[in-house]
Amino acid sequence: MTAAIATEGLTKSYGSVKALDNVSLNIEPGELFGLIGPDGAGKSTLHRILATLLKPDAGKAAVLGLDVVRYYSQLRDRIGYMPERFSLYHDMTVMENLRFFASLFGVNIADSYPLIAPVFRQLSKFPDRMAGKLSGGMKQKLALSCALIHRPEILLLDEPTTGVDAVSRSEFWDMLGSLREKGITIVVSTSYMDEATRCGRIAVIDKGRVLAAGTPDALTRHMSGKLYNAVASDMFGLLTRLRKMPEITDCYTFGSTLHLITTGRFDPAGAIGYLKAEGIADARIYPATPGIEDIFIQLTRDD
Ligand code: ADP
Ligand code: MG
Repeated sequence: MTAAIATEGLTKSYGSVKALDNVSLNIEPGELFGLIGPDGAGKSTLHRILATLLKPDAGKAAVLGLDVVRYYSQLRDRIGYMPERFSLYHDMTVMENLRFFASLFGVNIADSYPLIAPVFRQLSKFPDRMAGKLSGGMKQKLALSCALIHRPEILLLDEPTTGVDAVSRSEFWDMLGSLREKGITIVVSTSYMDEATRCGRIAVIDKGRVLAAGTPDALTRHMSGKLYNAVASDMFGLLTRLRKMPEITDCYTFGSTLHLITTGRFDPAGAIGYLKAEGIADARIYPATPGIEDIFIQLTRDD
């Protein structure tokens, strides 16, 4: 089976900034694949290369088996791309936007409607509203409808949920799930670590490099059993004491608790005893469920 997307040693710099550094990824047909990383990680650069809009300095990228530099014009008909900042025309209505994108690709809206209907359903109630007057969630749905208008096989979505409310974010992920069931391969980037669990597989990226790739479960599994929460009334005192324990490899603030990454020799009862001797009498330590954020912290520290 040909990979839907394959990159090998992909590298791209802007002046002295290496935006992508030797990125090799394989994405299979029908995957919902997440690019997870903070601002500046290189997510948009990778999207633009895959969308055939930017050339890499080195390395290769193939989409649907076709090299993105050589076969860019063929690929543009087969790729749907939703850039980071929605590319809608704010002074055009909902329908005018849709018609405009349909005309760019020379397709009929009616032919594409079965595919976009689940995304477009709510919007179809106000076809004449200016795109600029839509809520964030509705703009996002219109932008996705426009990206789907030519029935692409590959959908590239660059931070589609940034700045959108939590309910719309969740609805959006549900829609991606149903598009995926229709066989579309989806690559979606996000800086919200909690969205990683909505993807089949993810790549964790930082400073242009892929730090790890796999299912969210597989990535968090190797950390389970090693991660603990710790709380006490004196959180700063707790942090400085715990950081001195050799069985704790890392200790950081996580919401209102501390997360401890521990070695196999860590004993919570022993730690409580040590903290008491140090004057911290009310500490509690209990197992934590690792999330992608923990994985990310560990990966970037190891770096
Ligand atoms: P992300 O989308 O993950 O935030 P980007 O791909 O936008 O990351 O950026 C990666 C790095 O490249 C960042 O350090 C960013 O500042 C830099 N960069 C991106 N685009 C440009 C550009 N057009 N000119 C100069 N530097 C850029
Ligand atoms: Mg970006």
